Amino acid sequence: MTEPLLKITNLKKYFPITGGLLGKKMGEVKAVDDISFSLEKGETLGLVGESGCGKSTTGRMLLRLIEPTSGEVYFDGKELTSLSTNEMRKVRKDMQMVFQDPFASLNPRHTIEKILEEPLIVHGGGAAKERKDKVKEILEIVGLSSYHAKRYPHQFSGGQRQRIGIARALMTRPKLIIADEPVSALDVSIQSQVLNLMADLQREFQLTYLFIAHDLGVIKHISDRIGVMYLGRLVELTSAEELYANPLHPYTKALLSAVPVPEPDVKRERILLSGDLPSPANPPKGCAFHTRCNECMDICKTERPAFKELAPGHFGACHLYG
Ligand code: SF4
Repeated sequence: MTEPLLKITNLKKYFPITGGLLGKKMGEVKAVDDISFSLEKGETLGLVGESGCGKSTTGRMLLRLIEPTSGEVYFDGKELTSLSTNEMRKVRKDMQMVFQDPFASLNPRHTIEKILEEPLIVHGGGAAKERKDKVKEILEIVGLSSYHAKRYPHQFSGGQRQRIGIARALMTRPKLIIADEPVSALDVSIQSQVLNLMADLQREFQLTYLFIAHDLGVIKHISDRIGVMYLGRLVELTSAEELYANPLHPYTKALLSAVPVPEPDVKRERILLSGDLPSPANPPKGCAFHTRCNECMDICKTERPAFKELAPGHFGACHLYG
């Protein structure tokens, strides 16, 4: 078996809570609390959960835009958390990020040509003429035109700006793209166009994706496997097909019940989650989901369920499964 392209083990990010005149540490927010998973070359892993569940922090830790508190990140044979800033900069050529809000991530004072050239300049990608040719080529690849190179971000629609965000990520021909809610800010009709584009690019450039989203509807078709996160932990992880056909964790069932069904005759019973997401600074004891779970048992309030294989290839953390 070949090595996975990405493997993270026991990754944690605890943010300190400080207070008082001396800025003393009063506690910590366990934004990501001991998660492990791997990604094969060419695979798409969807990471899903409500806002504040730690999925975006996880994505940023892989690139070390946020430093992990502990744990390891292996990418393409290298352990990243121990690399120097300089070594990490080189690795980022092969690991790029697409952000949720393309407008905020594109410098409004720069032309698209300048924005797209920048990653090449940072990573020593050829002479000026060669770089400009690459910009024109990538614009065509993402469904824009070479004349767009001279325009500014405000002259584009939301969908076009996300195409530019994707083009920028592709400039260095990365192996892995971490896409953090790349279609959440777009109209539904535009979402599917951008998702189709990402699927086409994956085939053309043999890309591997970590695709972060807050609802299961968006990632159904693009993901090979899906991980569901709740309060900084993975609660379920399996193939996309299995997750939609046979969800095991009550939280996943609730998230799935909110996804609209395309057939008008099929009605899915909506499972409403009671209460708000607890604070990650003060997570409930036992199973962190027990305060909102409609299948909660006594054991759930005191013992945290281990994350383990519940069925072949289907992992989860829930006392309902022994
Ligand atoms: Fe619900 Fe208990 Fe399973 Fe947690 S462990 S999801 S509270 S049944």
